[in-house]
Amino acid sequence: MKQYFRDIFVSVWTVLIGMKITFAHMFKPTVTIQYPDVRRPIPERTRNRLYVNMDDCIGCFQCDMACPVNCISIETVKSLPTEDLGMTSTGQKKKLWVTKFDIDIGKCCYCGLCVYPCPTECIKMTDVYEFSEYKRYDLVYNFATLTAGEVADVKEKAAQMEKEAAAKKAAAAAAAKTAPPAPGAAPAAAKPATPAASKPAASAAQQPAPQKAESAPPQAQTAKEPAPVSPTPATNS
Ligand code: SF4
Ligand code: SF4
Repeated sequence: MKQYFRDIFVSVWTVLIGMKITFAHMFKPTVTIQYPDVRRPIPERTRNRLYVNMDDCIGCFQCDMACPVNCISIETVKSLPTEDLGMTSTGQKKKLWVTKFDIDIGKCCYCGLCVYPCPTECIKMTDVYEFSEYKRYDLVYNFATLTAGEVADVKEKAAQMEKEAAAKKAAAAAAAKTAPPAPGAAPAAAKPATPAASKPAASAAQQPAPQKAESAPPQAQTAKEPAPVSPTPATNS
């Protein structure tokens, strides 16, 4: 009989010892949250998923060039002089159609280097940190807002514009080649050659000496050549 009551006591005592920690936590503040319904606030400068506001993007490629893993892919097309693409919220005029702006977030290392050089502050880190996907290609985000038809349209217009510009340039070059020299041009070119004998250019024009003849052609060439055309930026497609 004594053993019977002893077993009952031990059983109850064991339960009480087991529940000691539970009872203790019943009177402490809650530390768990009902994730994902409740989320902890994250620091302001946390680096998470990127977002691009295409209304402000001018297609300058600064973010693309800054990215150490090449996960940003941009394509731009020149707009026509008659087209007005509007202004960014920072007051810069948009001159290029951004026909492609992809970020492969699967490659992104969240370094944030693309954010800082953006002149219009349109690429930024968000507070979204849950964006896992079942398929890898679903991690390539397309931010460009133009439809496939619109892209084809702007590309066609740009190609036509470039073709016309090239044709104009070729026609101008051909006209410059075939046109007879202007009546006043020869004396003007020969003028500096005659008066001062001390000037090398003048003696080069008058004397057939080989070493001076070498210096004369570059002068004539630079006078005939059109103004140098600045190289087309690599950013344009
Ligand atoms: S955060 Fe870094 S890795 Fe990711 S897109 Fe920007 S520059 Fe590239
Ligand atoms: S740096 Fe900014 S404006 Fe330039 S291409 Fe990237 S997102 Fe667009």
